[in-house]
Amino acid sequence: MGMNEVSKTLGNAFNFSVSEDIQNLIPYKPGKPISETLREYKLEKVIKLASNENPLGPSLRVEAALHKAIPWIHQYPDPQCYDLKNQIHQSWDVPLDQMTFGNGSDELIDLLIRTFCDRGDQIITSNLAFISYELSAQASHVGVIRVPMTAELTFDLPKMAEEILKNPSIKLAFIANPNNPTGTFVSINSIQVFLETVKSRENLICVFDEAYVEFLRASEAQSVLSLLQKYPQVCVLRTFSKTYGLAGLRMGALFSSQPQIINYVNKVRKAFNVNMLAQVAAVAALQDTEYIRRSQELVWGALDYFYGALQEMGLPYWESQANFVLFDCKRDSGSVYMELLKKGVILRPLANYGCPTYLRMSVGLPSENILAIEALKEVLI
Ligand SMILES: *Cc1c(COP(=O)(O)O)cnc(C)c1O
Repeated sequence: MGMNEVSKTLGNAFNFSVSEDIQNLIPYKPGKPISETLREYKLEKVIKLASNENPLGPSLRVEAALHKAIPWIHQYPDPQCYDLKNQIHQSWDVPLDQMTFGNGSDELIDLLIRTFCDRGDQIITSNLAFISYELSAQASHVGVIRVPMTAELTFDLPKMAEEILKNPSIKLAFIANPNNPTGTFVSINSIQVFLETVKSRENLICVFDEAYVEFLRASEAQSVLSLLQKYPQVCVLRTFSKTYGLAGLRMGALFSSQPQIINYVNKVRKAFNVNMLAQVAAVAALQDTEYIRRSQELVWGALDYFYGALQEMGLPYWESQANFVLFDCKRDSGSVYMELLKKGVILRPLANYGCPTYLRMSVGLPSENILAIEALKEVLI
């Protein structure tokens, strides 16, 4: 991790140094924005099924709560998120001193690494896990161990436990359950076996990222929140970006049964990291259980529709516990992606994960899902 001298000539020669980790950082590439695609391809309508957002739009209760909060935005937000804590305590039964919040769960991933890893430490995750863990680690000069996924594209928990037991520099394990971009899950039983195996290991925090937990359908799938009090090393991440329809406002939650863990993260985070409107919106979103139910119904119906269409096209896919499906288009997904763009459909290729033939398709509104499948058929046949 030596510091490389980088020099740039900007009129006057000016020398500055940037570490190799930062030089080699490949920034997260978000799904292509609709406005950009409209412009570039001179299209009238574009369907974006690339970022796992909630296609229903915001809950009406959230909109009303936001309107009521606007006269107060000249004031700083509540750094303790008092109202949100109480609402979560009510909704999810987590004690008030066992949670803190971030500007999206993405910020909490970053905070966990900065709080609990020192230079020379490592995190462990999988080669096909959510890419944010790796990016945050690299930016903090923390090493990454990527245990390959199983043949079914699930986290290989026994292999991860083995690595953890023999490598004391691993401080954090990141397990997305269900995982993005695969949509696969690990059962609550296998998680319990994993935790029993690693619980003797000191100085290890196991982070379960439950961004899509509301979409779980498989009977063996369950939130790890039920194990929070039993295993002190467990942390749980949740986001309001997916099911709750608040991606644009940025709100994520971190849970740990250890108030010291929460306190240390609070020391590192900025006091005003989550804004007032996000706090207000998250409270209203939690209260709108009808909106959540509609989101679930939409997603489950759409996934079944996608499975049928993919089967018909002879394309392998991975059954999903989230609001998207990963499939193999059996040819270069970059060019399929480009052909779909011309037809006004944005999907997500997985070349940056080292999977050159895979595409990820998020659930949209039923009419959008039909148009996306039609476009896919035209491009592939
Ligand atoms: C989308 C996503 C997040 C990030 O959510 P934000 O709260 O919007 O930062 C975290 N983890 C996984 C697995 C995700 O897919």
